[in-house]
Amino acid sequence: MIFDVMTLFPEMIENYFQYSILKRAVDSGIVKINTINPRDYTENKHKKVDDIPYGGGAGMVLMAQPYVDAYESILRQDNSITIMLSPQGEPLTDELVNKLTGYNQIILMCGHYEGYDERIREIINPKEISIGDFVLTGGELPALCLIDAVSRKLEGTLGHIESADEDSFSNGLIEYPHYTRPREYRGLKVPEVLLNGNHKEINEFRLRQSIERTQKRRPDLYDKYIKKRDNND
Ligand code: SAM
Repeated sequence: MIFDVMTLFPEMIENYFQYSILKRAVDSGIVKINTINPRDYTENKHKKVDDIPYGGGAGMVLMAQPYVDAYESILRQDNSITIMLSPQGEPLTDELVNKLTGYNQIILMCGHYEGYDERIREIINPKEISIGDFVLTGGELPALCLIDAVSRKLEGTLGHIESADEDSFSNGLIEYPHYTRPREYRGLKVPEVLLNGNHKEINEFRLRQSIERTQKRRPDLYDKYIKKRDNND
């Protein structure tokens, strides 16, 4: 999977892949991260990439020329998608992440300042994705969230692929609680059922915990889960 990230701050992206699981994924060739800086494509002698908005108002707007030229320089692979990180886009969910794992190349457009000149959208026509109903200063963190979420679902990224299968959302529920050593800490004991080695009982216990947690914390997901379960019965 190739991620081509368009950003004015390439180090913000590159640094993230120096650590832990995603460093391993890069080193083993499961994912490849390229950065493209629109500043390198500006025709302006001061290397300007933003300007004041027509019509007035606060903030600076990303200019179309450096952004579009940078985009057009990217080598397109078969089966590629272009995504603009934007608070105005479709919310990023586990379902959408699963769909994105089906591409060979994901081109990610990170905005900054007040956002993009609208003609960038009109010319490139990307899919817009948001990581939530709040506004960040730039698209780098949202791009990293997306790359991280997609990469960990690719075969070989996690040590045991099952650990992604059992994560929150994968079966429509949020995950059950985990425990590790010691058996007792500050008077709090690990539930007995997890210590008895009976995998059927352990799975049933975990499913019950998962359902209870989802009902309490995410009634929207719980309702969907129950409807789906009833339809399958
Ligand atoms: N003026 C824009 C608006 O109200 O829609 C917000 C611009 S924001 C300050 C600058 C950039 O950060 C955006 O162009 C986008 O790339 C990124 N960004 C901010 N919040 C985001 C979110 N929730 N999801 C995805 N990208 C976001």
